[in-house]
Amino acid sequence: MNSEFDESGKLQYPDPIALSCPRCGALGALKVGQLNFRGKLRWFESASCDTCGLRSEADGVGLPPSKIRELLIESDGEWRVVMSEVKSKASAVKVLQSALSLDMKAAVALLRTEAKTVFLGTKSESLWLAELLEAAGERPILTRV
Ligand SMILES: [Zn+2]
Repeated sequence: MNSEFDESGKLQYPDPIALSCPRCGALGALKVGQLNFRGKLRWFESASCDTCGLRSEADGVGLPPSKIRELLIESDGEWRVVMSEVKSKASAVKVLQSALSLDMKAAVALLRTEAKTVFLGTKSESLWLAELLEAAGERPILTRV
């Protein structure tokens, strides 16, 4: 069995953020996490409160809802992916288009920005995008904003 999964076969997220219960405010009852797993970006939100009994689970693939991204950025900072030189514009555009669900014009525009910043987001999101670009032969630079 892969160590990335727990005994029930659930994917283990490294270092989820612990937040207070959205209903009663009990500390640590809400957990939020994000992970770059085998080329796919995944997120989860899980509430398990012993004080008021609130239970909820949500997860998904791709960029998470903005509320969750804000929490992750608040905790781990905002990160950016910079492409100061592009080896193959065609393949870089293809990666950006498919990863960020952009049309070609928007993806090309990202490569043309003055700061060469193609993405701003959470740490896991930036790692995920940088890895996809690396797999396509590019040399993206990942920095904390
Ligand atoms: Zn509660």
